[in-house]
Amino acid sequence: MQNKEELKKTLKSINGRGYKAYKQIQSNWYDFGYYKLGIPYVQGDPFASPSSILIRIDQQVTNFPDWFWENKIRQTAVADFLTRLIEQAIKKYSKGQRGSGKSGLIAIAKTGQEVLERTSVEFNKDMIEARLSLGLPAAGRRVLGNEAFKMFFEELPKIINSTLYYDNINSSSLEKHVQVVEDQETLRGKLEEQRLVAFIANGSILPRQSGIDDRPLTGNKVVHFMSPPEYEVIFDLPHLGKIKGMGVKEGITLIVGGGYHGKSTLLNAIEKGVYNHILGDGREYVVTRKDAVKIRAEDGRRIEKVDISPFINNLPQGETTTDFCTENASGSTSQAANIIEALEIGTKLLLIDEDTCATNFMIRDSRMQRLVAKDKEPITPFIDKVKSLYNDYKVSTVTVVGGAGDYFDVANHVIMMDEYRPKNVTDLAHKIARELPSQRKKESSVKFGRICRRFPDPGSINPKRGNKLKVEAASKDVIHFGRNNIELSNLEQLLNREQTKTIGHILVFALQEGIIDGQSSLSDILNKIFSILEKKGLKIISPFNYPDGDYVKPRPYEVGAALNRLRSLKVKRVEI
Ligand code: ADP
Ligand code: MG
Repeated sequence: MQNKEELKKTLKSINGRGYKAYKQIQSNWYDFGYYKLGIPYVQGDPFASPSSILIRIDQQVTNFPDWFWENKIRQTAVADFLTRLIEQAIKKYSKGQRGSGKSGLIAIAKTGQEVLERTSVEFNKDMIEARLSLGLPAAGRRVLGNEAFKMFFEELPKIINSTLYYDNINSSSLEKHVQVVEDQETLRGKLEEQRLVAFIANGSILPRQSGIDDRPLTGNKVVHFMSPPEYEVIFDLPHLGKIKGMGVKEGITLIVGGGYHGKSTLLNAIEKGVYNHILGDGREYVVTRKDAVKIRAEDGRRIEKVDISPFINNLPQGETTTDFCTENASGSTSQAANIIEALEIGTKLLLIDEDTCATNFMIRDSRMQRLVAKDKEPITPFIDKVKSLYNDYKVSTVTVVGGAGDYFDVANHVIMMDEYRPKNVTDLAHKIARELPSQRKKESSVKFGRICRRFPDPGSINPKRGNKLKVEAASKDVIHFGRNNIELSNLEQLLNREQTKTIGHILVFALQEGIIDGQSSLSDILNKIFSILEKKGLKIISPFNYPDGDYVKPRPYEVGAALNRLRSLKVKRVEI
């Protein structure tokens, strides 16, 4: 640990020199009195990725009451709140980019509508550590020592002062933020005992600003959610108290309704209900079982030895479907594989929207059944499997269906969206099904079929390009992984680039730690990874010798999905 005066001296002495001179401050800790500043990494060039800094403060100094670190969810919520505060303080106090490349930049990981476990701020009973990026300033490639001085001794202290000391922040908005998160977590935990898969509170705002803006829709056209009386349930939450809303029950639920009446919007809110949301989001009390997986068609994806035989058999030219491989899946085979892979990892809730399904996977009507004989049609449509999926494996489904009324035969619950208002039309749908019997023949035996375990071969997962580790998120949708690109744009519950990057680094970590050992099934691997992350914190996956502030915890389903989409993956397969 050096005194902050040493940092001043160094910055003065390197002023005007070549950019590499900044390396003199790398790997040092500087004592700023109330807080310590660590500089674990200094960029080699003003145009390269920015330098990393750590700000560490003892909890004795910050004055946060014990209440905030009493459990993990509160710690996560506080860390999220502080990240948001720092983001705002940077806008206020940082002069921003000046000079060449990233000169002058001060940044912290971006936040959105969800409250997520992240490494940008660590908050526990001993300390707060904030992890920021800094663009050390230069003119061309010459050190601008005076500008660096302003960043370290004027801008950063103001940012730190206004965010990391309890007495200087708005404690009531912090408390509300933590309470709303803890309530959501509690609510999600209560779903199972009530045999519900999701809950949507009355008054929720489900529609978003736009397809590219996740904030709530505003204005007088917004229709607030209101449960049909038959599906209304009440929960008692620790902070909010009593709350009413629609309970979506276990079993087979259909969401029907005319086009543009809000079906997909409801399903999207349920999809995102696996995460907690910030106050004011409109979906604060929309919660879903955390293992829910959105399923869609994804033609073009690769499939590695997945047993899709519950859905698909007798392919042309005798191609096997019990360990189906393809470099270029069709709509229906991709959708079948997406379901089987989610089941293999352990989901008990599938979310399906006809907008993004392969029609021939969802249904084959009576006329088509007559024209194309069963032995010429490899696909057993989802409608003939959805019941056995629930009976055999207790996997519930929520499916948006606007066109295929044959689904009334298999549904336990039918919710109609009518001008954005849900109605219970279950009895009516069943009555119609009796009065107008479907002409189609059921195409499947009573059993769903087996679900197999697959054992990933570590030799087929190479994160290196040449001798260099090369794993990075190009965007939310693509991981550069060694010589491969993993394409994730069809994972609709993946949130942001940070989560994508974290998935890449989790895979590297699992390889390096020998968790992917050729002997463990994919679901065992995921369980092991996530129990380590739970115990040791997300930061341990960093491939560097310092914590990366850019990680956001993904779900096991998206990590598994990424591995399943790695085009070099090889697996061994064993029946469960
Ligand atoms: P569907 O899937 O039934 O065709 P969508 O869910 O895509 O319909 O919704 C159609 C449009 O209505 C979208 O632009 C959406 O933002 C808007 N919308 C959805 N729910 C509401 C609501 N509760 N209030 C106002 N607008 C809404
Ligand atoms: Mg739709």
